[in-house]
Amino acid sequence: NNDQFLARQAKFESNVRSYPRKLPLAIAKANGVWITDVENKDYLDCLAGAGTLALGHNHPDILQSIQNVISSGLPLHTLDLTTPLKDQFSEYLLSLLPNQGKDYCLQFTGPTGADAVEAALKLAKKTTGRNSVISFSGGYHGMTHGALSVTGNLGPKEATSGMMTEVQFMPYPHLYRCPLGIGGQAGIDALGYYFENLINDVESGVRKPAAVILEAVQGEGGVNPAPVEWLQRIRKVTQEHGILLIIDEVQAGFARTGKLFAFEHAGIEPDIIVMSKAVGGGLPLAVLGIKKEFDTWSPGHHSGTFRGNQLAMATGLTTLKILKEQDIAGQVAVKGEWLKAQLSQLQKRFPQIGHIRGLGLMVGMEIVKPQQPTDHLGCHPADPELAVLLQKKCFDAGLILERGGRHGCVLRLLPSLLISQVELTLFLEKFEQALLSAGL
Ligand code: PMP
Repeated sequence: NNDQFLARQAKFESNVRSYPRKLPLAIAKANGVWITDVENKDYLDCLAGAGTLALGHNHPDILQSIQNVISSGLPLHTLDLTTPLKDQFSEYLLSLLPNQGKDYCLQFTGPTGADAVEAALKLAKKTTGRNSVISFSGGYHGMTHGALSVTGNLGPKEATSGMMTEVQFMPYPHLYRCPLGIGGQAGIDALGYYFENLINDVESGVRKPAAVILEAVQGEGGVNPAPVEWLQRIRKVTQEHGILLIIDEVQAGFARTGKLFAFEHAGIEPDIIVMSKAVGGGLPLAVLGIKKEFDTWSPGHHSGTFRGNQLAMATGLTTLKILKEQDIAGQVAVKGEWLKAQLSQLQKRFPQIGHIRGLGLMVGMEIVKPQQPTDHLGCHPADPELAVLLQKKCFDAGLILERGGRHGCVLRLLPSLLISQVELTLFLEKFEQALLSAGL
């Protein structure tokens, strides 16, 4: 049963496990939005491999593309040597970047999101000859040393003294807890003032950075979409000052937010686009999209063994084609709005859902204490204990979702982008069941 598998695994792996603490199951199989555990219980999966499985579990076209590679005789792994499949994948991926990718080139990095972030940071430093990076509160970029240093969450940093990259953190807009301040006009003007007047001014103490790195919609940080004008101002000032703009699309990319890339909501073009998760269609793959003028690598400056996973390129290509050719982004935008509207109805009965936010099928609900007084912005205090309890009650009701944000108070949904209307309705039923069984 589940408990036996979990107990055995606890002996094999050290106590650094994360997900099994919250989701205590052993998975036997999965299909579409469904996961079945070893006790034959079904769960509606609103985590989808942390947003990796854009088409859900075991999509038939994904499985077929794996079969095709196996029967073609291609090697499974090719370092960064090319193959007809890599050629096709690269051409297709590049064509999805802004302006059909005409100004960009690709770089295959190691297989994880963090690997790609490391490569982006190194490239920005090399290109500009500068050392520091600007990042944002609540940003998440991975757990390796450089990526962790630009991650705006002190929790995982506490275990490690000293970071790899010099980082200046700035506040990221928050539509609920700071609706006007940072993302509003005053905040945008302050940002402009910072870049235009303080950077590299000897007396201000602000060193000119190599790059700004950000997510256009923060995921782990609690599902925070950045206001469009804020993103546009950052693009403008970074361009004016020769600072590279790195946009991390590892989670928000590939139709998740209702556009192929989340930065498209602001109509901007990053200098470096960080891609992983869905780009590999469920298998490990990470790629940078680099504006050609900033591709200053020389041979040998950045490499790595696992950059040629042919199965991941096959599943990635299948995913990208389905996303593009079936306009999945457009459908995701509609489903996301519908879902948020339904959750708003639920919020009227359950004021513990303090705020509903997100774009497309990247949706978050901040859990609060409605019985306690609001602050000057009209927000109730967050309720971390209830958020934990709700995640557990959801699990008991057969619903897998994750938490994020400050104190883990935001319930996060990252389901398959192909989730149907019927399945979304089922999600709402299960979620309501969880709210009721938490005694609300
Ligand atoms: N960037 C973002 C925005 C992410 O959400 C994540 C993973 N959740 C990463 C980077 C790191 O990716 P990985 O876990 O594959 O290293």
